[in-house]
Amino acid sequence: MDRIRPARPELDDLTQYDAREPQAAINLSSNENSQNLPKDVLEKLAENMADFPFNRYPDPMASKLRTLIAEANGLDPENVLVGNGGDELIFNLLLAWGGPGRKLLNMPPTFAMYAIDAQMTGTEEVAVPRLADFSVDADAVLARLAEGDIDLVYIAHPNNPTGNTQPETFLIDVLKATDALVLVDEAYFEFSRHTMRPHMERHRNLVILRTFSKAFSLAAMRVGYVLAHADVICELTKVRQPYSVNRFSQSVAGMVFRERVVFEGEIREIVRQRDVLMHGLSSIEGVEVFPSEANFVLFRMAHASAVWRDLLHGHDILVRDFSRTPQLEDCLRVSVGSPAENAAFLSAMGEIAAQRRSSALFGTTNGEPMQGER
Ligand SMILES: *Cc1c(COP(=O)(O)O)cnc(C)c1O
Repeated sequence: MDRIRPARPELDDLTQYDAREPQAAINLSSNENSQNLPKDVLEKLAENMADFPFNRYPDPMASKLRTLIAEANGLDPENVLVGNGGDELIFNLLLAWGGPGRKLLNMPPTFAMYAIDAQMTGTEEVAVPRLADFSVDADAVLARLAEGDIDLVYIAHPNNPTGNTQPETFLIDVLKATDALVLVDEAYFEFSRHTMRPHMERHRNLVILRTFSKAFSLAAMRVGYVLAHADVICELTKVRQPYSVNRFSQSVAGMVFRERVVFEGEIREIVRQRDVLMHGLSSIEGVEVFPSEANFVLFRMAHASAVWRDLLHGHDILVRDFSRTPQLEDCLRVSVGSPAENAAFLSAMGEIAAQRRSSALFGTTNGEPMQGER
C-alpha cells in the first residue's frame, strides 16, 4: 500500500512529546534529584546483579514493594498500586474513569500530562484556570463540581510548574463536593511534607499519587504508586499492563524504599538550596519569583525564551521554558541542583540580566530584536 489509514482524529492536534532535550553540562530542567543513589545502595545493587533472574517475568503487582509502601502508610497492600512511573498511573486513571463522554476537571497551568492523557483517552477536559497568583479558583471549581457531571479531578499538590500547594480546606471541600475520583498528585510530597493521607478513611474518592523519580533519585527506573480505596485499585488493575513495572525497577525501588531515611539529609539540603535559589533570583532586577514547596522554582522575566537560550548556549545550563504555556508567559522553571550547580545558575542569571540591562540602552540584546521574541 502506498498510503496509511489515518490514526484516530483525536490525535490530530496532539504533538508528539519530544523527550529529546538539548544536552547541557548542568541540567536543571526535569526536577530530578541532582545526586545519584547513595554509594552503599549502588554497591549493594552491583552485588545483586550476578544472579539476578533477568529471564523471568516480574511479579505483576510488585507485591514486595507494594507491601512495604502499604506498611509505611498504615494501609493494606490492597490500597496500593505500583506503576511505571506516576505517569502510567495518571494515564490508567483516565483509562478507567475517563473515556468518551466522560469529564476530567483540570486546573491549568499544571502538569501537562493531565491534559495530554485526557485527550489521548478521548476524555473531555473541563479546565478551571488558576488565578493570576496560581492559586486555584476555589469558587469556580466547587461551582463546576456542583453540576454533578465530573468523573475525575486532578490536582497537583504542590503544583508543577508553579510550585504552590493548595489550602487543605480547599482539597477537603472538593472531596466533599463530588463523588468523582479526586487525584491529589503528591509527586513532591517529600519536599512539601504535606499529604492528604489522613483523609483517606473519610473520603473514599481520594487517590494519592507519589513517585520515586524526584526525591529518591530513581527517575531512570520509572516507579510511582497510588494510595486509594481497594475498589479503586481493583478497577485500575483491570486497565493496566500486567508487567509494566519491570523486575529490576521493583528490586531497586524496594531497596531504596527500605533505606529511605538516608535521603532525609539530602532532602533537607534540597529544600535549603531551593530557598537559596529563590533569594538569589529575587535579588536580580526584573525577575519575579513564585514561592515553591517543591524542588524547583518558577520565575518570570522579560524575554524569557531569549534568557533560556543564553543560559544554554552561553553557560551550558538547561532549564525549562514555559513561556509558550498560557498564563506562564515569560516564565522559566529551574530545578534545584547541587549547591555548585545552583551557584553557577545564579551567577549566569546575574550576568545575563546585567548584559540585558546594558544592551537595552541600545535597543538590542545579543544582536536580537527586543520585541517579537519566541
Ligand atoms: C514528575 C511528576 C510526576 C510523575 O513522574 P514519574 O517520573 O512518571 O513518576 C507526576 N506528577 C507530577 C506533577 C510530576 O511533576
